[in-house]
Amino acid sequence: MSGQLFIVSAPSGAGKTTLVRKLLERDREIELSISFTTRAPRPGEQNGRDYHFVSREEFEALRERGDFLEWAEVHGNFYATSRVWLEAEMKQGRDVLLEIDWQGASQVRRALPDAIGVFVLPPSFEELERRLRGRASDDDEVIRRRLAAALGEMRRVDEFDYCIINEDLETASADLQAVVRACRARLPIQKLRHPASFGFLKHED
Ligand code: 5GP
Repeated sequence: MSGQLFIVSAPSGAGKTTLVRKLLERDREIELSISFTTRAPRPGEQNGRDYHFVSREEFEALRERGDFLEWAEVHGNFYATSRVWLEAEMKQGRDVLLEIDWQGASQVRRALPDAIGVFVLPPSFEELERRLRGRASDDDEVIRRRLAAALGEMRRVDEFDYCIINEDLETASADLQAVVRACRARLPIQKLRHPASFGFLKHED
């Protein structure tokens, strides 16, 4: 396999989804994995574009068949990454991005140790609280629970290779792009992808 696997994780409120969307707009060589989920679609979400929305029974049948690379329960719903799709993409040399939670990230790293983990942090806990409170629809209790969950997730940062601090969106977005580009420039990857560029080194002077 010559495609690289990137995992982007973050607590809710860190701005991960916007950063990933910007990366996909600016970098045409990376494909986003569409997860399976048992959660109901939100307004505007499309089946097959945002998620593969399935019933709990369908999810369990796919899981039993071994179709998932990882799965996790997040906020009472099930989520999973398709093994089949991911392996096919990577075999063809395409880079793949997973936007999954830390539980999924550690399962993927166990199965595929070369996966590159990127964690997105808010600039401070106070700023995270401010952002979560900005979502006016949630009451105090919900926000308190989200903050406690976010703190637990942020403690997982040490399991990742890179960390993007999302204080300014444009800077954070450039940082994420830079991580992907730097990983592509790693010598073993370049040798695999561009053998012709290294062929001349075999010639005698
Ligand atoms: P949401 O329901 O808001 O789209 O996502 C909730 C959480 O589930 C987010 O933290 C998201 O990263 C995570 N998630 C989405 N897809 C997957 C997946 O395939 N596997 C895992 N482990 N987590 C996922």
